[in-house]
Amino acid sequence: MNLEKSYATYLDEQDVLKTYRNEFYNRNNIIYLDGNSLGLLSKRAEKAVDHMMQSWKQYAIDGWTEGNNPWYYLSEQLGKLSAPLVGAYSDEVIITGSTTTNLHQLTASFYKPEGNRTKILADELNFPSDIYALKSQLKLKGYHPDEHFIQVKSRDGNTFETRDIIDQMTDDVALIVLPGVLYRSGQILDMKTLTNEAHKRGILIGFDLCHSIGAIPHHLTEWDVDFAFWCTYKHLNGGPGSVGGLYVNRKHFGNNPGLAGWFSSSKEKQFDMEHTLTPAADAGAYQIGTPHVLSAAPLLGSLEMFAEAGMKQIRTKSLQLTQYLMKLIKADLTEYGLEIANPIDDAKRGGHVFLVHPEAARICKALKAEGVIPDFRKPNGIRLAPVALYNTFEDVWETVQILKTILKEERYKQYENKRGIIA
Ligand SMILES: *Cc1c(COP(=O)(O)O)cnc(C)c1O
Repeated sequence: MNLEKSYATYLDEQDVLKTYRNEFYNRNNIIYLDGNSLGLLSKRAEKAVDHMMQSWKQYAIDGWTEGNNPWYYLSEQLGKLSAPLVGAYSDEVIITGSTTTNLHQLTASFYKPEGNRTKILADELNFPSDIYALKSQLKLKGYHPDEHFIQVKSRDGNTFETRDIIDQMTDDVALIVLPGVLYRSGQILDMKTLTNEAHKRGILIGFDLCHSIGAIPHHLTEWDVDFAFWCTYKHLNGGPGSVGGLYVNRKHFGNNPGLAGWFSSSKEKQFDMEHTLTPAADAGAYQIGTPHVLSAAPLLGSLEMFAEAGMKQIRTKSLQLTQYLMKLIKADLTEYGLEIANPIDDAKRGGHVFLVHPEAARICKALKAEGVIPDFRKPNGIRLAPVALYNTFEDVWETVQILKTILKEERYKQYENKRGIIA
């Protein structure tokens, strides 16, 4: 491996996805490596929002059924566009809600404690919102989280061994919820094996795909996963607060959702205004109320790019970018106490690199001051996400040079080693 900048330039020239960079709004002289927190705005997403505003202007109430993207069917239309990203049938996916509300909905629907089978199994490294939601769902059913909530322990504080998770699949577990990719270390959990092992023990299992959708391919239907949910503002570039998504396996179709609303209805029946719900025959049944049309609109533009580029090519470039980043760090930066804490194995690494350093908080501040946008994760983590659709190998090379100067000259010492309000 060549460590010179010319090699980065060469890799960029070979990049089959290079034209997509121009489709995004990259700020001048800023290297954006935070696409796993908030993806960049693309011109296509912007245009899609403009079109939606036009349809409101032009059609008013008739926009529900008129125009290119009638609002009444928008959640289903976007579900269809998202299905290839999770490896599901179109009718198994719906764009609705947010990660947390979808988790509430799915837990309310799939957590059915019975006899001794009362527990929910999760992990100790998941994002707090998921943990709060699961604990509150336990309480709603009259179970105390201290006794009925199991969180798998990590041996190294960053990752899990598949067998440690399987060991916790005891016969008192009713439901398992785990991340597809861990938000800090970027570890991919073996969703296929975990699903298979859960089902052998009669346990339902769902995955949070916030950090995996748009970063890695999935085969939810083939793996027989029961349900999944995700946000669309990270790797999918849907914009701040863009509408989330969920997947429900066809074998669970035809049931009433745990949290019902009029948009859970079969579309033909919805305007009959009956007081007995006829749920949609597909994943649409897990919607609750009126779709957030303006917050879903950007996805029309953004998902089109994923369909064109294809997850296979996106994943290939993403792996090349993170491999390249790790190589440069190993060659140049480990002497300054920076450690790579994400899985090295391609099959286990998601779309970002996770570095640990005791001065991480202020190293991130120094990076930002020097034009590189990382994100800090308490207490000592730095996430860097070189994104296949808009980052380059030169971005990666530059970042490592900047990071080296910051560490070598201890430039981070100008800052407080404390996180900001949003880190
Ligand atoms: C980003 C993220 C969330 C955010 O949930 P919202 O409901 O969109 O605020 C939740 N869980 C995980 C694992 C995440 O990565």
